[in-house]
Amino acid sequence: MAQVQKKATSAYEYVDHEYDVVVVGAGGAGLRATLGMAEQGLKTACITKVFPTRSHTVAAQGGIAASLQNMGPDHWHWHLYDTVKGSDWLGDVDAMEYLAREAPAAVYELEHYGVPFSRTEDGRIYQRPFGGHMQNFGDGPPVQRTCAAADRTGHAILHTLYGQSVRNQAQFFIEYFAIDLIMSDDGQCTGVVAWNLDDGTIHRFAAKMVVLATGGYGRAYFSCTSAHTCTGDGGGMVARAGLPLQDMEFVQFHPTGIYGAGCLITEGVRGEGGYLVNSEGERFMERYAPSAKDLASRDVVSRCMTLEIREGRGCGKKKDHIYLHLDHLDPAVIHERLPGIAESAKIFAGVDVTREPIPVLPTVHYNMGGIPTNYWGEVLNPTPDNPDAVLPGLMAVGEAGCASVHGANRLGSNSLIDLVVFGRAAAIRAGQVVDKDSKVPPLNRAACDKIMDRFDRIRHANGGTPTAVLREKMQRAMQEDAAVFRTQESLEQGCQRISAIWQELPDIKVHDRSMIWNSDLMETLELHNLMANAFATVYSAEARKESRGAHAREDFTERDDVNWRKHTLAWVDDNGTVSLDYRPVHTEPLLPVEEGGIDPAKIAPKKRVY
Ligand SMILES: Cc1cc2nc3c(=O)[nH]c(=O)nc-3n(C[C@H](O)[C@H](O)[C@H](O)COP(=O)(O)OP(=O)(O)OC[C@H]3O[C@@H](n4cnc5c(N)ncnc54)[C@H](O)[C@@H]3O)c2cc1C
Repeated sequence: MAQVQKKATSAYEYVDHEYDVVVVGAGGAGLRATLGMAEQGLKTACITKVFPTRSHTVAAQGGIAASLQNMGPDHWHWHLYDTVKGSDWLGDVDAMEYLAREAPAAVYELEHYGVPFSRTEDGRIYQRPFGGHMQNFGDGPPVQRTCAAADRTGHAILHTLYGQSVRNQAQFFIEYFAIDLIMSDDGQCTGVVAWNLDDGTIHRFAAKMVVLATGGYGRAYFSCTSAHTCTGDGGGMVARAGLPLQDMEFVQFHPTGIYGAGCLITEGVRGEGGYLVNSEGERFMERYAPSAKDLASRDVVSRCMTLEIREGRGCGKKKDHIYLHLDHLDPAVIHERLPGIAESAKIFAGVDVTREPIPVLPTVHYNMGGIPTNYWGEVLNPTPDNPDAVLPGLMAVGEAGCASVHGANRLGSNSLIDLVVFGRAAAIRAGQVVDKDSKVPPLNRAACDKIMDRFDRIRHANGGTPTAVLREKMQRAMQEDAAVFRTQESLEQGCQRISAIWQELPDIKVHDRSMIWNSDLMETLELHNLMANAFATVYSAEARKESRGAHAREDFTERDDVNWRKHTLAWVDDNGTVSLDYRPVHTEPLLPVEEGGIDPAKIAPKKRVY
């Protein structure tokens, strides 16, 4: 690849690159997009701050949803219905339909790329039940829809996609930290600036298309299942580019994080027959969700657990957690299908799952909100005239994006399928809109200098507060004030606390001034990104006066479709102010009924019970 060594225009040494497409992020979404772009002969670079196979996708355990019908009846209409209901009618129907319809093809494609799925007796892909996935438009029992490679599905997918991307000559920039988007003066995205953590050089990538696949921002909270790298860098970059974030108030708490440690115990455990009990030994989910029981959707189970604890039926000395039993399962099943969680329970809770229950607690797990896109992954820059206006040159996929297929609550195993379906869709779209023969847009040097001025200020920050101290303050505020249950009081307090922390950002002290493996500086850049996400989250939550999906307000307990079936947009500016606006939910299916599409009446809003 041609690299032009430039004389530094500032204190920094620049290396310049030109690509058709630059993907930022090498998790499942980034790799699937990278692979798809490279396969079409687009000159593609993938930048990642961690080695690709260390991306958080590697930790995904339970599986990937697709209506393959390998283990009983299923239909993509049912998958679509469950996703719409799971989203509490906030997801965009066109995107959800695209997801459910394309899912089987995307999974078979993974199989052909080499993902070692677990198998049924007759050699098909093994599928397990998962929360909120039911037969016959929710009228039947749980459906076996979640395809799994034991309890290491994400690991298997990530390794396979990385191998395939390398095979297709995608160029990887590993352990490069993307700092900011390069925007043209007329507001298009024309590239990205990144810092090579290993040798300290600064790289300016000019590109016809940039794809953000930077994952979620779980680390804005004190207790989460996400890796330390999940710091919402894409959201931070987008906010600094003057673009909005969407539906940030919807943060998923997974019912079964290990008490104390926060590590995840997959929902697949309950799919294989595990169940929750309170201190009285009662299987309380039977009371709250008579049909789906322990396999009700995550927001529902998390709330029920929190209520049980609040009402004094929590387990343990402090009565502050719940027990998850799988000691009644055949140890052979645990060994074959859930080996990873048996190991995690041993290490992090000191529990032998064949004999004792695992102590668990709802823990932050997934961000439904993110960078707004259409179902091709193109980033939206809504205007008053056009809520679906596309911003040229920028896409977002995976947990960083918001297509929005998960609406107010994501169903388990619907994220991995989101990564591959929309990673693939972005590649298909790029094949249509990126002209291989056209010139790469010119580098906006002034914009790059501004990016590096900010970087330089942060690098030399000489205040009185260590980054870790401020980060913990933010995490505690989010954990306490934007939790499973919310009130006007808690959210107002959250807004005030996060605003005050924003004002403290200039007082940060970065101890290490070097450019080589400076983790102090990197964590400070990440904290700025986390703060933009946290900010949008509490302010969007404070404004939404209803309960929907993961956003459960004790003062507005009902869903209000008349006033609130709409997406929140939040712009966070450099001074720490948030402006909010809204855009309509897409309610129309793509495929007409005559061509096998779903009857719109089937997915019209109704009360959500499991
Ligand atoms: C413990 C756990 C278990 C899960 N299990 C399941 C499951 O069974 N099924 C399911 O459907 N979902 C599951 N999920 C959710 C799902 O795994 C994630 O939503 C998904 O993997 C996110 O993938 P991604 O590609 O968007 O981002 P990630 O996998 O998080 O990757 C982000 C990438 O962006 C890069 N990056 C970020 N910032 C920068 C920057 N500034 N510069 C350069 N690179 C950057 C990182 O290096 C990384 O490569 C689970 C999540 C967790 C935390």
